Amino acid sequence: MKILADYSLEELQFLDLPKFRIKQIFDAILQSKDYNQTTIPKKIYEPLTKEYILHPVDIFEIYKSSDGTKKYLLKLWDNNIIECVFLIQNYGNTICMSTQVGCRMGCKFCASTTGGLIRNLTAGEMLACIACVNADNGKCNERNFTNIVLMGSGEPFDNYDNVVKFLRLVTSKEGFNVSERNISVSTCGIVDKIYDFMKENLNVTLCVSLHASTDSIRKNIMPIANAFSINEIVKALKIYSETTKRRVVLEYCLIKGVNDSFEDCKRLSELFKGINCHFNIICLNPKDNLLQATTKKEAYAFINKLQSLGISASLRRSQGADIQGACGQLRAKRLKEQNN
Ligand code: SAH
Repeated sequence: MKILADYSLEELQFLDLPKFRIKQIFDAILQSKDYNQTTIPKKIYEPLTKEYILHPVDIFEIYKSSDGTKKYLLKLWDNNIIECVFLIQNYGNTICMSTQVGCRMGCKFCASTTGGLIRNLTAGEMLACIACVNADNGKCNERNFTNIVLMGSGEPFDNYDNVVKFLRLVTSKEGFNVSERNISVSTCGIVDKIYDFMKENLNVTLCVSLHASTDSIRKNIMPIANAFSINEIVKALKIYSETTKRRVVLEYCLIKGVNDSFEDCKRLSELFKGINCHFNIICLNPKDNLLQATTKKEAYAFINKLQSLGISASLRRSQGADIQGACGQLRAKRLKEQNN
């Protein structure tokens, strides 16, 4: 089966249908509507359903946090489950998207990696997730969010082609028309893909999950550090920010006694001196008892230290912690329940 959402409006013209019917199908994808909720006649859509999937994803469960954050478990057409989060923020609502079912990066603190990588999401599946969550948060024919962050489960640069295609679909004028500047793509630091991404001419914000100030600390918590050194990341980000004229973001999750000392601040400031960047600091959301979070008070001291050393940094507000908001926690919990 092929997924209709994988095609742009232009690409859909291969369907042997009048233009306005194709537009109706395209709108049904974006509005997360079934054929029978449109005026497309059965004799047109019935043959299509034999070969193509209109909606590759459905809402399976919704968890609502006391802060308004909504976490969605979405069921894909092949019964795989992924997570997606709708965050209400004063500058506009944000959808946090997954890019893969599971993940194979193996970061020690991250629940997404439990069970490894199942499969990549296609561009159309990611678009359909956005459509589904959008429709659940207002009128389906309006855009009820302004920002997208690819910070859910999965490693975007381990699913590079689909992610780039998704970014082109979701920013297209006839699609959701999301501003490229309102999209953030977060990677654990697959350096060769950072260089490729630079050439895509997408005006999105690039975020790199650094989480350490030395390679040896990083190797202990992030296996990808065995493939790329921090120096290689720094070099790529310097070139990226100079070429794209965009500020890059470093994500740094504070883990008690692992990466949260003032020595770390000093090393970070030396590494990133002169680079147009910002550090998003977050306290670990512990997935088990092996790693503990740094306290908020210590986190503020860490941020002050970084700032005093000339590095822009702020504490990222953690939303939805009461509904297992961190990466992959909800899906992991689900899988565990299913296996019991
Ligand atoms: N694979 C990408 C996308 C994941 S984005 C990446 O590594 O960047 C999600 C962000 O949340 C990453 O910075 C990730 O390292 C971080 N994260 C994962 N688990 C976390 C946890 N338990 N507590 C705090 N941050 C976590």
